[in-house]
Amino acid sequence: MYRKVDDRIVSILEEITDGQVVRDEDLMEPYSHDECALSEIWRLPEVVVKPTNAGQVLEVLKLAYEEEVPVTPRGGGTGLCGGCVPVHGGIVLSLENMNKILDIDTSNFVTVVEPGVTLMQLAPEARKEGLFFSPRPGDESASFGGIVATNAGGSRALGYGTTRDCTMALEVALPPPYGEIVHLGSRTVKNSSGYSLLHLMVGSEGTLGIVTKQIMRLDPLPVVTNTLIVPYGNLHDAIATVPDVLKRGFRPTALEFVQQDVVTVAEKKRERKSKFSGGQAYLMIEIDAGSEEELERTAEGIADVCEEHNCVDVFLASGKEQEEVWDFRGKLYEAIKEYTIEILDIVVPPAEIANHVDAVQRISEEYGVWIPTYGHAGDGNVHSHIMKVRFKDGDLEQMEEWKRVYASVRDALHEDALRRGGLVSGEHGIGLVKKKYLPMFSDRTRIELMKRIKKEFDPKNILNPGKIFDL
Ligand SMILES: Cc1cc2nc3c(=O)[nH]c(=O)nc-3n(C[C@H](O)[C@H](O)[C@H](O)COP(=O)(O)OP(=O)(O)OC[C@H]3O[C@@H](n4cnc5c(N)ncnc54)[C@H](O)[C@@H]3O)c2cc1C
Repeated sequence: MYRKVDDRIVSILEEITDGQVVRDEDLMEPYSHDECALSEIWRLPEVVVKPTNAGQVLEVLKLAYEEEVPVTPRGGGTGLCGGCVPVHGGIVLSLENMNKILDIDTSNFVTVVEPGVTLMQLAPEARKEGLFFSPRPGDESASFGGIVATNAGGSRALGYGTTRDCTMALEVALPPPYGEIVHLGSRTVKNSSGYSLLHLMVGSEGTLGIVTKQIMRLDPLPVVTNTLIVPYGNLHDAIATVPDVLKRGFRPTALEFVQQDVVTVAEKKRERKSKFSGGQAYLMIEIDAGSEEELERTAEGIADVCEEHNCVDVFLASGKEQEEVWDFRGKLYEAIKEYTIEILDIVVPPAEIANHVDAVQRISEEYGVWIPTYGHAGDGNVHSHIMKVRFKDGDLEQMEEWKRVYASVRDALHEDALRRGGLVSGEHGIGLVKKKYLPMFSDRTRIELMKRIKKEFDPKNILNPGKIFDL
């Protein structure tokens, strides 16, 4: 049992953070949820604090430890599994005021940022130096603290790796009994100096420490970049193309797939036609290259593979058109969220993606549930959406029995992923929503080790309790 936040604790928090404390219920409402579609993933914090430096973060942790009050870190609140929802009440520790870009080091290709810096904030500054941060999770208001804590992936993971690959070093505030700031990693390319606590911290979802500063890898902007939009008559042909593109030695930056019914709903919702037309399913293939000639050669080679798999056509998008295409892709979830029960984040080995997507179709038919899927075909990360509506003749029809079938459909999809050597989450994390499935995909000893690590870092279980697993 945790202690309630009373007026005495609030006044100490005000002192620690120079008054950066919110207690008004209306003002705390935005801190009660993230972007998860499930309406029950919600809880009002008892208080929100917005520290401005690492010292204040540490003092908040020390107070929370002494008073036995839970602390839930929060970045941009764009998470999809309830990771920043304060399920046990207590303090929401928002990093939004720690939002300075401290350095863009063009010699070592890194940036030093505070955790509240957002992707959209860094992008123009890095671009001025001819650099960019490669992970592209769909919502640009995600913060660097949040993307490290979830090990966010996004569409460019195929070409450039995930956030873990781009995290060089972290400064982390640890709760007592350590109660200190610790530095993990460095600007060096290589590091073979003992256990990698850096990589333990990446993806730890705010359960082990609070990231207060970070050094992230940047990459040089490509000389040219284009995206192929490839319509197909059916999803199977689209997905079957993917392993062949990779086997022939092409390494696109991103290789995404999307189904026409999701496009139809998104176009209606946004009252705007998109560049996706003429198919039942589409591949989006982004190619970065060092010259126009190289890009043309690669695009032609990939188009040949698509044609061998019966694509209907191949369109090339560049410049503004390319930006629009990616913007439309990034907003698909927003367009269908109100009809969605849950977005899944299953990842399977790349060679299994066609089989898993076929299984999603079979499960959809068996249960009579609309399960539109799109996602990162190149790396096997499939976002199937379990829906509370049916898609019929281009329109949506209410489905009365969704509550009854939801659990079975969810189980069936995860069981298929397990059979194929997949995992419950490729990039969103476990948070609250996916806790049920973690043991299914893990040895018992692995879970036990994780719990012991958690207890070592946070013996009173005050840091983001109730996430990933229950102690
Ligand atoms: C439309 C849309 C598209 C998306 N597409 C993708 C995608 O393609 N790929 C992808 O990976 N994700 C995607 N996401 C999910 C989301 O953007 C990512 O999970 C992102 O990394 C969350 O960052 P955030 O700052 O919003 O974190 P939050 O949601 O605020 O928090 C996420 C987790 O991080 C912890 N946390 C936050 N800050 C800190 C800190 N400083 N120290 C310790 N822990 C901290 C929180 O406690 C929580 O557990 C998408 C989301 C939306 C809404």
